Formats: sequence, structure tokens, C-alpha cells
Amino acid sequence: MLTILGSTGSIGVNTLQVAEHLGLPVYAITGHAKVELLAEQAARYRPKIVVVSDPAQHARLRALVPAGIRVEAGPQALEAVASAPEVTAVMTAIVGAAGLPATIAAVRAAKRVCIANKEPLVMAGGLIIAEAKRSGAVLLPVDSEHSAMFQCMEGHSPDEVAELVLTSSGGPFRTVMDLSSVSREQALIHPTWKMGPKITIDSATLMNKSLEIIEARWLFGIEAERIRVLVHPQSVVHSMVSYRDGSVLAQLGRPDMQVPIQYALTYPKHVPGTVAAPDFAKLASLTFEEPDRKRFPSLDIGYHAARCGGIVPAVMNAANEMAVAGYLAGRGRFLDIFDIVGRCVGQAATVVDPCLDDIIAADGEIRARLAMG
Ligand code: NAD
Ligand code: MG
Repeated sequence: MLTILGSTGSIGVNTLQVAEHLGLPVYAITGHAKVELLAEQAARYRPKIVVVSDPAQHARLRALVPAGIRVEAGPQALEAVASAPEVTAVMTAIVGAAGLPATIAAVRAAKRVCIANKEPLVMAGGLIIAEAKRSGAVLLPVDSEHSAMFQCMEGHSPDEVAELVLTSSGGPFRTVMDLSSVSREQALIHPTWKMGPKITIDSATLMNKSLEIIEARWLFGIEAERIRVLVHPQSVVHSMVSYRDGSVLAQLGRPDMQVPIQYALTYPKHVPGTVAAPDFAKLASLTFEEPDRKRFPSLDIGYHAARCGGIVPAVMNAANEMAVAGYLAGRGRFLDIFDIVGRCVGQAATVVDPCLDDIIAADGEIRARLAMG
């Protein structure tokens, strides 16, 4: 049975549709707010348990959910439904560091962990990979680029790889030369993907690629120096693996998350899905260009954080989450996000081999500091 952490979000809704298509029974669904949607999902998909992570919403949710379905609340309930014995697969589709404890619970309980929620890997990838080795959990990437690289890496080892080529749409500001006056509305319109608000802003700043460099570093055991970002505006080539003999493997598909979501759930099989393959005769062209690192300093910040390791990626992530939350709430300008994240990363302390508590403390410290203004 499947648990979907964050079922009310963009990945969560798509996962429910894929689960229904595959005939996969759902054990638990979770959401943070939107209790009406959560209750509607419960009525339609009939999970055994529904969790609202905000305890204040418990009574409201209970009143809406049909009889016979258990209603739980609070962050501990997320960990419980991620690790319950009935569960074989967990989709991690919570946004941000909030998904870290439940991700770790699923990994420790040796589940098939389908990872959409990339921030926990950025913060604590080394520890999560080590836990998975210990427990035997299988980590399957859902991020489209990582699903692509994962498929291109199958049967190969990291030492065969010359470089991972991580593609990026370039976001809504790919051709906007002056980013000082762009609006929130512009930043929230993504040219090729439809996603939740936080990752949509991350895609506009290209901070999403920095998070993805670190995500790939842990998933594939390939250091950031061998991960290259390339802008590919059509979002058809989801990423590539360039091997030492000059052979390059790519994975292609329409920009629709149901494809990588389904593959994470059905791996190692490709089974009939909900999305058609691209019609290559109708694609005018596939183009590639270098990202502009001057306009998007986020990339250099990401490479720097990856090189530093320790708590620095967690600091980068926390600063970015705070900066984006502030921006989405109407505070500050687009370029402030680079300033805030760059400043926090620049001041981050060196902690060699941090444990989970060190990482959580670093995350909390940045949040507290930035909340004070
Ligand atoms: P979203 O904002 O649409 O949904 C987020 C989900 O997390 C919701 O169900 C929400 O209720 C829940 N949530 C929010 N705060 C929470 C908290 N404090 N505690 C518990 N639950 C909380 O986000 P999304 O676009 O679906 O993205 C989810 C994750 O997947 C992100 O990490 C994102 O980077 C990653 N991802 C998304 C896409 C995409 O196409 N949307 C693609 C690749 C990776
Ligand atoms: Mg991605």
C-alpha cells in the first residue's frame, strides 16, 4: 500500500491520479491545510488514514471525512504513516524541510521511498543515503531530471560517468536581461511546468537547479564538479548522462510529472501510463545553451554549498525557504532572494560530518535569524 505525504499539493494530486490509474491501494494521505480538499480526496480514494499536519485543523477535518477512515493530526502522525508495516511505498511530496522527519522515517522503515521532496536530500543527503544502505530502503527519484539520470545510469557505476548534464527550462526570466523590476506575477508563471508556488519561484531564480545539483550528488554519488547545468527551454530532454567513452544517454518525454511519478511507483517496469510520448515530427527543435551565471548567481551559490558540504547546503536551503516565503507573502523584490541566500551561505560555519541534530539546529538558526529581519 502507498502513503502519499503532501497529497494536497501539485505532486500529491498527480500521484493520486497515477495510483488510481495503476490500481494501487492508498494507505494514507496527508496535507497541512486545505482540509476540504483532503476530505474530498479521502472520500474519493478511500485511504485507511488521513493526516492533517497542522493540529489546529484536526476537529475540522474529522467533521468532513467519511466514517470508517481514521483521522490523525500533527507531525508525529506523518512519521507514523510513513513507516507503518502495511505500507510498501511512500511518495514524499511535502514541500521543504518540513518533510525531513517523515522522509527519514520511511527510509529507516525500509520502504520504497519515491522522492519528490528534494529539500531533505539537500539538507541531509549523506545521512539519508547511509540510512537507506543500512535499512535496505530503495530510493527512487521523482524529480524529472533525476528520474531521467537514474534511468540513464541503470546498470552503470559513477566511475564510468564523465558528467551528469542537468537540464533546466531556464524559467520565466531566461531572456529577461534586467531582473531588478520583474513582478511576482511574472515569477509565478512557469513556461513549461505547472507546480506548487515555492518550486515555481525556485525555478525562476534557478535556485531549483542548485538544489538539484546537491540532490543528484547524493542520489548518484557523483560530486558537483561533474554535474553540469544546461538550459534547454523546451523541457523535452529531462537530463543526460555523458559517459567517459563519449557516449551520451538522454531520457525524453513530455513535461508532465505523471511520467516520473509512475516510474518511481512501477520501477523497474515501464507499464502503460497516463501520458503519451512526444510527437517528434511536431517538435520544431531541441536547443541547449549555457546558463547565465551573472544574472543567476544562485548557481554559483549552489556549487559553493555543494563543495563546502557539512551544514552549508542546509543553510542554503533554509535561507532560500525563508526568502521565498517572504517573497510569496509580498515582501521584498525578486533580487533580494539572491542577496539573502548568498549572505547566509557566505557566513555559514564549517561543521565536519554533521549529525542530524547539527543539521536541524543550523536550519532552525537561519530561520530564527531571518524571521527577526
Ligand atoms: P505544493 O506546494 O503544491 O504542495 C506541498 C504539499 O506539502 C501540500 O500537500 C501541503 O499541504 C504540504 N505541506 C506544506 N507545508 C507543510 C508542513 N509544514 N508540514 C507538512 N506538510 C506540509 O508543492 P509541490 O509543487 O507539489 O512540491 C512538493 C515537493 O516536490 C517539493 O519539494 C518540490 O521541490 C518537489 N518537486 C515538485 C515538482 C512539481 O512539478 N510540482 C517537480 C519536482 C520536484
Ligand atoms: Mg526538477
